[in-house]
Amino acid sequence: MNCFYHPDKPAIGLCKYCQRGLCTDCAAIIDDVLACQHRHEDEVHKIEQLAARNLFQSKRVASAYSRNAIFYGLVGTLFTAFGLYQYRFLGLQAVFFILIGLFLLYAASANYFEGRKHK
Ligand SMILES: [Zn+2]
Ligand SMILES: [Zn+2]
Repeated sequence: MNCFYHPDKPAIGLCKYCQRGLCTDCAAIIDDVLACQHRHEDEVHKIEQLAARNLFQSKRVASAYSRNAIFYGLVGTLFTAFGLYQYRFLGLQAVFFILIGLFLLYAASANYFEGRKHK
């Protein structure tokens, strides 16, 4: 493949914006990717910024979900253990704690699976 602007020179890569071949004279490196010099430098920079921002946001969302999953999991385990332990003293009243515990464990797993979708 040769350069789009200089058909006599070999291309070293493609512009990320227009996918045309570029030689060493025409290629500009923007955020570690190639762009047509003086033509698509701004466009490529915007594409890279947008991609970086999306990656950053989905990582943040995923970590928020896993933080929730850990919290619900811990509290849910506590409630369930407390309810099971108290069952012989409190009887039916302890079932209330077990139910809350199980609900929190359900919330924990829901958050866990939701977080995995964003990774
Ligand atoms: Zn271009
Ligand atoms: Zn060229």
